[in-house]
Amino acid sequence: MMMMTYKHNNNERLTSHFSVGEFRCKCGKSHDTKLDGELVEKLEELRTLLDCSKIIVNSGYRCPDHDRNVGGSGGGMHTKGQAADIVCYDKLGNIIPSGVVCCAAQEIGFGGIANIDSTYTAVHVDTRSGNKWYGDEAVPGGTSASVCTDFYKYYGLDKAENDVKTGTIEIDGVKYKYTLEKV
Ligand SMILES: [Zn+2]
Ligand SMILES: [Zn+2]
Repeated sequence: MMMMTYKHNNNERLTSHFSVGEFRCKCGKSHDTKLDGELVEKLEELRTLLDCSKIIVNSGYRCPDHDRNVGGSGGGMHTKGQAADIVCYDKLGNIIPSGVVCCAAQEIGFGGIANIDSTYTAVHVDTRSGNKWYGDEAVPGGTSASVCTDFYKYYGLDKAENDVKTGTIEIDGVKYKYTLEKV
């Protein structure tokens, strides 16, 4: 797939679980949606790897005005249709912690990945090429203070052999058990 532009009210299904409408800009204007096909395909892979019941896209494409209004530069990956801010849910309907989602996104090969909220539930992923960018906006100093090269190390998660990862992660005093299994 490739970079596409869709009319505002287009809600075409792109993969088994994602449609254009989920990536529409939330500025309220009726402009087109730019969207990278690779982003959607990788989100579908992420959904499978994490065995999600659903992935909610809080923010997909942003026109430059909207990007600036939500604190962006007006020229970031969202304005290129190459980024999504997501919350992933497991089969029981629980939010999968950011740390686990970041590791899974690393497995899938997203170029940019970051936790973006203080409760570690929302993750930014993008399809930048070239240098990878892995971060955590919740720490003091933001992403510039938290860039890492491996989320397993950063979050202290085990990465087992044979592509199966199991363990626990503690966030705000709550322990979560997780399993990542390549299918
Ligand atoms: Zn807009
Ligand atoms: Zn984002």
